[in-house]
Amino acid sequence: MISRRSSRIPESSTVAIADLAARMRRDGHEVVDFSAGRAAEHSPDVVCETAIAAMRQGRTHQTEARGLPEYLEAVADKLERVNNIELDARENVIATLGCKQGLVLSLLSVIDAGDEVIIEDPCFVSYAPTIELFGAVPVIVATDSSSRYCWSEAALEAAVTEKTRAILFCSPHNPAGTVHTRDDLQAISRVALRHELTVIADEIYEAVAWGGRKHCPIYTMPGMAERTIGLMGMTKTYSMGGWRIGYAYAAPRYIESMTKMQQHLMTCASSFGQIAAAKALQADVIEQMLPLWQDWEARCEYVSHNLDAHEMLNVAMPEGGFYAWVDIGRTGLKSQEFCTRLVQEKHVATVPGISFGPGCDAYIRITCVRSWDELRNGVQRITDFVDGL
Ligand code: PMP
Repeated sequence: MISRRSSRIPESSTVAIADLAARMRRDGHEVVDFSAGRAAEHSPDVVCETAIAAMRQGRTHQTEARGLPEYLEAVADKLERVNNIELDARENVIATLGCKQGLVLSLLSVIDAGDEVIIEDPCFVSYAPTIELFGAVPVIVATDSSSRYCWSEAALEAAVTEKTRAILFCSPHNPAGTVHTRDDLQAISRVALRHELTVIADEIYEAVAWGGRKHCPIYTMPGMAERTIGLMGMTKTYSMGGWRIGYAYAAPRYIESMTKMQQHLMTCASSFGQIAAAKALQADVIEQMLPLWQDWEARCEYVSHNLDAHEMLNVAMPEGGFYAWVDIGRTGLKSQEFCTRLVQEKHVATVPGISFGPGCDAYIRITCVRSWDELRNGVQRITDFVDGL
């Protein structure tokens, strides 16, 4: 009684491991959860207060499918101020229920059954299942540490067929931490332009690039504004994952199509969520977030530096995002076995690399933006675990 479409896809391994950690905690274990991609902090007070006030004022009804004008304006202002992207709030932006839903709307607008979408290995766990749910085919093009997990033009070119419709990639990258430079983006832009492909850019971590780096949206590359759908949102950097609020920006033809889908699928993003997110995108609130984001950089440094010091582990400081991508190859364990034993024996939940792509079985992913106490405790337990192998 269940569709083949649903039966074929696996459950999300990051969500599954976070659930396991929660169950172990309920059973009385003191679990350090480095698995789910969420910070220790809660949503900013000013954002919560704005939502509460909006609800009290009766702003609890559906909005236009594309979003509240004040939210779309706030998004357009922020894109111009922070990301150097100039666009029209009335044509180029849509409110989404988080970045994942932005991806759903993008894919529904761009692909038909049987089409191919190029994705990275490693990549975010939900890309391939989402593409498959729509009857399309994810085509994996591998990357590795030798090229900072950036595609070469030749590798991308070789993957394009007459069925290719889109290239989906992420920067700052989950899980590998790459922040693509303009040079890095040339390969993707050139292949997309040559074959008239759409590029879906998952930019959910755009606010958190480290070492003085700055996120470069592929939308700003020559010729790419016409064919890029950018996905951003509040989930990660504002610790607003439970609000389900984000935004997509793109040329009007994409936004019109996505709006039509939104009318039928979800109606709209939450009204008070949009009002609160508009507040979060104001310059003064972003200013208030900066000390926290700087502390996240220090947490990423702490985890990567201390684990890299172990002779069996190899970890580079991420260029952006908030994960440590840990090479466990020298332990001799495959990623699933490493993570299962680590959570069972030391009660530390992490994500096996194999969840992010077939080429990543020698890696695990650790979320670095947990509290300092959890980091110290968890890093010690991981070190003890590896010592005991
Ligand atoms: N894209 C990437 C790369 C992510 O890491 C995540 C969250 N794990 C998402 C999308 C999902 O974002 P949201 O919760 O806003 O849907």
